[in-house]
Parts: sequence; structure tokens; C-alpha cells
Amino acid sequence: MSTDTTTAEKPKDFIREIVEHDLQTGKHQQVVVRFPPEPNGYLHIGHAKSICLNFGIADEFKGRCHLRFDDTNPAKEEQEYVDSIQADIQWLGFQWTDQVYYASDYYEQFYGYAVELIKKGLAYVESLSPDEVRQYRGTPTEAGKNSPFRDRSVEENLDLFAKMRAGEFPDGTHIVRAKIDMASPNLTMRDPALYRIKHAHHQRTGDAWCIYPMYDYAHPISDAIEGITHSICTLEFEDHRPLYDWVLDNITIPSHPRQIEFARLNIENTVMSKRKLLSLVTTGTVSGWDDPRMPTIAGIRRRGYTPTAIRNFCQAIGVTKANGVLEFGQLEYYVRQDLNLTSRRVMAVLKPLKVVIENLPEGHEDVFQADNNPEDASAGTRPVVFTREIYIDRDDFAEVAPKKWFRLAPGIEVRLKHAYYLKLSEIIKDADGNITELRCTVDPESRGGGTPDGRVIKGTLQWVSAKHAIPTEVRLYDYNFPMAVPEGTAAVDNSGSLEVLTGCLAEPSLGEAQVGERFQFMRIGYFCKDKDSSGTHLVFNRSATLKDTWAKLEKKQS
Ligand code: ATP
Ligand code: MG
Repeated sequence: MSTDTTTAEKPKDFIREIVEHDLQTGKHQQVVVRFPPEPNGYLHIGHAKSICLNFGIADEFKGRCHLRFDDTNPAKEEQEYVDSIQADIQWLGFQWTDQVYYASDYYEQFYGYAVELIKKGLAYVESLSPDEVRQYRGTPTEAGKNSPFRDRSVEENLDLFAKMRAGEFPDGTHIVRAKIDMASPNLTMRDPALYRIKHAHHQRTGDAWCIYPMYDYAHPISDAIEGITHSICTLEFEDHRPLYDWVLDNITIPSHPRQIEFARLNIENTVMSKRKLLSLVTTGTVSGWDDPRMPTIAGIRRRGYTPTAIRNFCQAIGVTKANGVLEFGQLEYYVRQDLNLTSRRVMAVLKPLKVVIENLPEGHEDVFQADNNPEDASAGTRPVVFTREIYIDRDDFAEVAPKKWFRLAPGIEVRLKHAYYLKLSEIIKDADGNITELRCTVDPESRGGGTPDGRVIKGTLQWVSAKHAIPTEVRLYDYNFPMAVPEGTAAVDNSGSLEVLTGCLAEPSLGEAQVGERFQFMRIGYFCKDKDSSGTHLVFNRSATLKDTWAKLEKKQS
């Protein structure tokens, strides 16, 4: 059963309207878009918005979506990231058209177009120091100054550029700049850098190059080479659009994609920057890129989030030009909605309290058929075995019941899910006064969910058989984990963002779970089997808590 709403009738956002218009008017025969990550980290939930938008448009309009690695900064890029990005896109349910594209495949063309700009007098080799370049740039309210190297001859520029490529200069000594306008009110247009010297090994081109193109120069050319029709990016690139167009207007290239900007996804308390996420990894604040507290696709996958939930979330939040910050709860809403419909129900107790049922004989066993998912009849049933000794959760018993307490307490009868009505007869304590065991009785008339005399039982508890239960470790995560990493600090205080419960007990059917399989632990939350499990050592991550547990249970029973 799927809760995928992405195939349902969609409201059109402004980008889809542009695409539709361009197809209807015949401006383009086919839409071609791209997702262009820099392989310098793992993808995060913000990237999912861009992925759903680009791959979604290609799917809906029968177009193409390229996956292109924007690998023009060798110092920070790694194959591990290239691999994880591909795996994450596919896990989200998307597939790129053709082979994977790489900006590094266009290095020779980038170089050739820079030569063309130099020959046209539209680019020059700058030899001021980086500090001087900054001083000459001016401020938003003050025009910049022309560099003394701005009027170098075409021959001198060509010669210096060739020497830059040949490795004759150290890093930082020269750059190539576009010759546009040092007085432009748009700072991006004040003779932006096109090339820098970087003697660094590149994961694909090795040591073939020691000059690398800047993003603002490489990106429009990569788009045009691939015949991209709509180059969709986030709002911070709005000021860069004139440069995107300037580059393509001034080189001999047959295509000119249209750059369109949309608002990036921001979620409160959540870091959406690969650089900052990397610092959480390198400082040991988290266990890795796939730590379940991370807002990376790998992290939330390990936590138990589903691709359907993420796609539904991205569709629901839509695509606009207005920047804003969403609550994490909005994402969790879609996670719960999908897990509710798709996850198998099981019984587990996080803090076990032993219950001995005095009116059942030693060795007594009842086998009840429990439905695996009341939301999905096709999920079937499984046997659960009830025995004389069981465990319930410590939090489900109160020696002195507070107001509106419907769980077990002296004088308050409860229903054990799938089994019997249960009543307390005695509390057993140790010498220190701690409760170690409860003595109870069941009503035989209520066996298997019967309602003996129609008496009203408000509370239903989950339980596990002492003889059959299997031990598990459970990890609870605080989604308010302060993800913001203050600049310049080594690590953030993450104490309290992870709570590890050992000694939890679960029904034996969980022993067959696969890593990554998701369950609803009845009345507790949604859980996903973690990769740290091995053999009989089971580890479950809490994906999300349940909302309105009591309201739901009571509705089901009435
Ligand atoms: P980061 O700061 O996390 O490294 P980035 O924009 O530098 O983000 P890229 O690898 O360049 O990372 O991103 C690939 C694509 O994903 C870009 O088109 C970018 O606009 C988009 N993207 C990145 N972050 C978000 C976000 N929070 N919301 C929507 N789209 C995003
Ligand atoms: Mg980027």
C-alpha cells in the first residue's frame, strides 16, 4: 500500500507554468533540466526539494533530467560523495537520463571559451593580489576601480593564460576575469573571476589541470553544452543571472538556457549546508554523515523516513519565490502519515515491568492472531503467544493513579492488546521499596479481545511474553538537536540529543526484521532497524513519535 500522492493531480507552480508555456508555444520540443550537485558532501533534505522539482518536471513533461556533478573544486570533492549522491537520488525514486554528466568533462571547452573571451577583449589576466582585488571591488554603495592590469593586450593575456595552464605560476598569483563593469550596482558583474590557479589533484582529471573554472563561468557553459532548456537554481543566484546570460551571450555556443530561481528549503534548527554538516562529522559531534540526527538523506533514511514521505512533503510545500523557514513538524507529519499506512505493528516495552498472572497455570500458552496493520488488510496477521509471565512498560503502571489515568493502577482494569482484561492484585517491592513485580489476574471471559459484560475499559496496554520476548536496544533522537554550528567552534553541545535504552523487550517476530525495515511499536512510535544490529543484538532507531496515541486507541476500541 502506498501513500504516494505525487502522481495525483498537482497544482502548477510558476516554474511548471513556464515549462508548459515553452512547450506549448514550440520554443522547446522537449524540456531538459538538470540536478547539479557539487560532490563535496552528502545530500540533505534541502537538496531533496531540488531533486523532486527537477526530476519531477522531467517525468511530468516527458523530458530529460541530467545528473551533473559540478566538480570544479578539486580540493573538497571526493568519490565517496559522488557515490552517495547517486544512491540517494535513486533511493528517493528518481533516475537521471543517460549517463552521469560531469563538468570536468568540459574543461577543454571552458578553456577554449575563455580564450575566445580574451580574444574579443572581454576577459583579462589579473595579477593583483587577492587582497588588492577585494579593495578594488568597492562596496554595494561605492563603485569599484579598474585594475591596472585591465588593459593588458590580447597577446599578453593569451600568453599569460597559456602559462597559467602550463603550471608556470603558483596558486593565487593570477586569475582570469571577465571585463564587464567595475561600477555595476550588481557586485557580481564587477569583473568576476572566471579562472583560478589551483595546483590540486582532481578525482577525475588527475593532474591534467592546475587552473580551474569558477562556478559562475562553468555553470552556464555546462548547461548550454548539454542543451538544458531551464536551469533551475535557488534564489541566491538571482543576482548572478546577468552573469549567466553575459557568458552565454559572448561566446560562440548554440544554446542559451533560461535560469529560473526558486526559494530554497529552510527548516528551523536544521543546518542546510554541506560545509557545516561536514564540520559536525569531522568534530565527532555526530557518528557520521548517516547519523540519524543528521538532516542528510542518508541520516533520515537510517532514521526510518521513507522516500514517499519526503516526496509528499516536497510536493506539499510547493515551489515559490518566497523564502521562509518551515517547522520540522511539517516534515514529520508526512513521515507519520506514510508510516501509519505502511508499517507493521508490533509490541515492545521500553522499560519492562514483570507481571505474573496468578489465575493462569504455570506453562500456560495462548496463541492469538494479531493484525499486522489495521490500516492495511493485505498486511495479514501474525501469531502472538500469551503466557503466565509477561512484561508491560513501567510507565503504564502507577501505584497512585493521577487524574485521568487509564493505564494499570490499583482499582483500574486495563485491556492487554489482543489478549485479556487485566486487574492488579498485589505489588511486589524489594527491600528499598522499588516495585519489582506485579501480581495480577485476567478475566477468562475477555480472552482474545472479547468484551464480557460490556464494561468500559479505557486503557489498552501492549505487552510481551517473558518466555518469548527478545531483547533490543532502542535509540531515541531529539529532533531539536541544535544543528546550528557556530562559526569557529570545535563542536556543539549535543548531550541529550541521543538517548540509548538497553534492556528493552520486543515480541519475537522482530527477530526476523531486516536492517532498514520500519515498524510501529504500538503506543510508542515508529522505529527502524539499524545497521548496528548484529545477530541477536537488535538496535532500533525511533523514526518519529506517535501523535494522539490515546485518542486513536480509544476511537478504535469504541
Ligand atoms: P550546500 O550549501 O549544502 O553545499 P549547495 O547549493 O552549495 O548547498 P549544491 O551541491 O551546489 O549545494 O546543490 C545542488 C543543487 O541543490 C543546487 O541546484 C542547489 O540550488 C540545490 N539546493 C541546495 N540546497 C538547497 C535547499 N536548501 N533547498 C532547495 N534546493 C537546494
Ligand atoms: Mg553549490
